[in-house]
Amino acid sequence: MSLLDSLNPEQLAAVTLPRESALILAGAGSGKTKVLTARIAWLIQTGQVGPNGVLAVTFTNKASKEMLHRISTMLPINTRSMWVGTFHGLCNRMLRAHWKEAGLPQAFQILDMQDQLSAIKRMYKVLGIDAEKFPPKQLSYFVGSAKDQGLRPKDVEAHDEYHRMMVRLYEAYEAQCQREGVVDFAELLLRSFELLGANPTLREHYQARFKYILVDEFQDTNSLQYNWLKRLAGPQGCIFAVGDDDQSIYAFRGARVANMVQFENDFNVQNRIKLEQNYRSVGNVLKAANVLIAHNKARLGKELWTEAGEGEAIRVYEATSDQDEAAFIIDRIKKLVLEEGYSRSDIAILYRSNAQSRVVEQALFNAGMPYRVYGGLRFFERAEIKHALAYLRLMDNADDDNSFSRVVNFPARGIGARSVEQLQDISTAQATSLYRAIHRMEGRAQAGLKKFADLIERMRFETRGLSLPDLVDKVINESGLIAHFQADKDGEDRVENLKELVNAAASFSIAEGYYRDAAATMVDEEKLITPLADFLSHASLEAGDNAAAAGQDAIQLMTAHSAKGLEFKCVFVTGLEEGLFPHENSIGNSVEGGDGTSVEAVEEERRLMYVAITRAREQLFLSHAQQRMLHGQIRYHLRSRFLDELPEEVLKWLTPKRAHIASQGWDALDSKVWGQNKTLNVGYSNKTSKRPYDIGTGVSHAKFGSGVVVSYEGEGDDQRIQINFGRQGMKWLMLSLAKLERS
Ligand code: ATP
Ligand code: MG
Repeated sequence: MSLLDSLNPEQLAAVTLPRESALILAGAGSGKTKVLTARIAWLIQTGQVGPNGVLAVTFTNKASKEMLHRISTMLPINTRSMWVGTFHGLCNRMLRAHWKEAGLPQAFQILDMQDQLSAIKRMYKVLGIDAEKFPPKQLSYFVGSAKDQGLRPKDVEAHDEYHRMMVRLYEAYEAQCQREGVVDFAELLLRSFELLGANPTLREHYQARFKYILVDEFQDTNSLQYNWLKRLAGPQGCIFAVGDDDQSIYAFRGARVANMVQFENDFNVQNRIKLEQNYRSVGNVLKAANVLIAHNKARLGKELWTEAGEGEAIRVYEATSDQDEAAFIIDRIKKLVLEEGYSRSDIAILYRSNAQSRVVEQALFNAGMPYRVYGGLRFFERAEIKHALAYLRLMDNADDDNSFSRVVNFPARGIGARSVEQLQDISTAQATSLYRAIHRMEGRAQAGLKKFADLIERMRFETRGLSLPDLVDKVINESGLIAHFQADKDGEDRVENLKELVNAAASFSIAEGYYRDAAATMVDEEKLITPLADFLSHASLEAGDNAAAAGQDAIQLMTAHSAKGLEFKCVFVTGLEEGLFPHENSIGNSVEGGDGTSVEAVEEERRLMYVAITRAREQLFLSHAQQRMLHGQIRYHLRSRFLDELPEEVLKWLTPKRAHIASQGWDALDSKVWGQNKTLNVGYSNKTSKRPYDIGTGVSHAKFGSGVVVSYEGEGDDQRIQINFGRQGMKWLMLSLAKLERS
C-alpha cells in the first residue's frame, strides 16, 4: 500500500505540494501531523531529498518522538541522523557541532529552570543584590523574554530605574554564564540564531542542506523561533508550516499567532490549505469542541466535521470535593478497563496545573492502578539525580560553578561555608571559576578543597574508556552519594533513583547507538561530542518524564498544555472550576492580540480547553469539585464557565445540573450548595436577591473575626451567607442577623 492511499484529497494535495512554502491551517485532529510526516516520507521515498536534507521541528519531546515514530513506520530508514526535534534540541545540536564559532566551550552545559535560579542567587550573593527587591524569578523572566525577542542587554530599552537595574543584572548574568560555560534554554536559540547571522559560510551551508523545513504547531512559535526558521531557510527556503490558531496556548511565553500571517507574506505563500474533516473524535466530542471555541472572538475561523457516529454523550460529574472527584475517576476507569476492554494507556487524565495531580495520584496508587505522570517533578529534576549530574558535569566542564557549589560539600566532607566564601572571593578577584581558584588558594582551607578537586580528577581519569552506564555507576559510588543515602534511613528511594540513573544512561546509549558505533566510525558531524556530554544535554532538555512506569500499560496523567498534539481513546478533563480552569490569572484580564488589539485573556484558556476536549477519540468525561485542597488551602470554586458554554444536547449530567450564574455574573449567584449542606434548596430563580457584599469581599463579624464572602443562598429573610473565617472555619450565617461589616 502506498503511503498516500490513506489520505483524503486535501491532505493528498498538501503532502505532494511542489517545492514551495505552504501554510496548512486546520483544526484539531484533521491530520496536520499526519500530513507533515507523510510529506517527509514521500519526499524521501520519491528521491526528492535525502534524510539529511530535511529539518522538522515541533514543541515537545513527546511530540518529536511521535513524529520520528510515524516517519519510521512509513519508511524503513534510520531516522537517528535526521534533524527532527524540538527547537531547543535542534539548536543544541547545531551548537554542539559549531561550539567554537558560537563562542562556547566544547563541553558547555545547559541550565534548566532550577539551575538558572540557583545561578542567579549565587550571582546576587557575589554582587550583594537584595533578592527581596529583585526576585530571582523576575530576573529569570526578564532575561527569558528579552532573549525570546532576540535582545541582548545592550538592545533592551529601559525607561525607569527598575528596568535599568534589570538590564544591568541581565548583563552580569550573561557574563557569569559565559565564564562558567553554561547556557540557559532561551540562550540555545538565541546563540544559534546569532551563529547563523554572524557566519555566512555556515549559514549558506545549512540553507543549502535543508531543502525542506517543516514546522508542526506553528501557531505557538515566538518571534525568535520564527526568525530562526527564516534565517535557516534563507532566500530560497521552503517552509511547510502546519498549525491551528485555535490551539495557540503559549501567548504567555511570547507565541504569536500573527506569525502565520507574517509567514504568508515573508514566504510568498500562494495558497493556504484547509483541512476540515476530523478523523480523531466521535461526533459529540467534536460538536462540544466546535461550540466551545465559537465563543472566542479572535479567530481565523473554521469548523470541523466528521463521518464518525455521535458516540457516547459527554459525561459531566459534579464532585463534592477533590477526593470525591478522584474516586469518581477511579470508579470510571475500572469500568472502562474491566467492562469495556480499554487498555490503561488508552486513558488520560488532564488537569490545568500540576498541583492538581497529587490527589488523583494518591487515589490511583491506593487502587493499585499503574499510572504515569508527565511533567511535574521529573526524573532528572530530583535532588539526588541533580547531585549525580553535578559530579558528571564537573568532570565534563570544571568551570560549571553551579555544579561545583551543589556538590563541593555534598556528601559532607568538612568543607565549611567559610572556605567556600574565601574561594568565591578569589574566583571573583581573579575572574576565574571556583574550581580553578582552588589552586590559587593558600592555607588550611585549601586542603579540603584540594581533596575535592582530586576526587573529580581521579574520577575523570578512572572512567576514561568506560561505557556511559559504567561511568555513571562509578561516579555515583566514588562520589559517596550512594553511601550517603544508604546511611540515611529515609534514603532508600534515593538510592533506587540513583541506580535508575545508570539504567537511564544505558537506554540512552542504546537509543543513540553508542554501543553499536562505539568504534570510531562516527564521523557524523553531530556526533563529535562524547557520550557523556550528549547524555548531559539530554538530561537538561528532556528532564526525563517520570521514568517509574515507563513501558508499562499505565494511565496517563498530564496537564492540558502537555497533551497538545496527542490523542487518547478516553479522556478525563478535571477541575473545571472558575479560578482553576479558566485560571484565575486570566479572569477579567486582557492581553495584546497578535494585531495589536486587545483580547480577553480567558480566550487563551478557552483554547486550552479546546485542546483538552479534542484529545478524546471516543469517550470524554468532565468533572469539577465544590471544594478542593490546593497549596495547603481549601478553596471553593464555582463551576467553570466552559461547562456552561457546551451544547446541552451532547452532555449527560451524572449529578444533577444546578442553576448557574454564568450569564448574570457573580451577583446573580443563587443557591450554591457546599459540602455537607446538601439538603438546602437548590432551586434557581431569576429574582435576584440583594447581595450586600460581592463574592470575595472581606467582611468582619463580632465573634468570628474577619473572613471572605464565599456564597449566598435562599432569598428574602431566609437569605444566608457563607463566609470563610480562615482559622475559625467556614460558616453559614443568616444575613439579616449577622451584623457584618466590610473589612
Ligand atoms: P492536532 O491538532 O491535535 O495536533 P492533527 O491535525 O495533527 O491534530 P493528527 O494527529 O495528524 O491530527 O490526526 C488525528 C488522527 O486522525 C490520527 O489518529 C490520524 O492517524 C487520523 N487520521 C488523519 N487523517 C486520516 C485519514 N485521511 N484517514 C484516516 N485517519 C486519519
Ligand atoms: Mg498534530
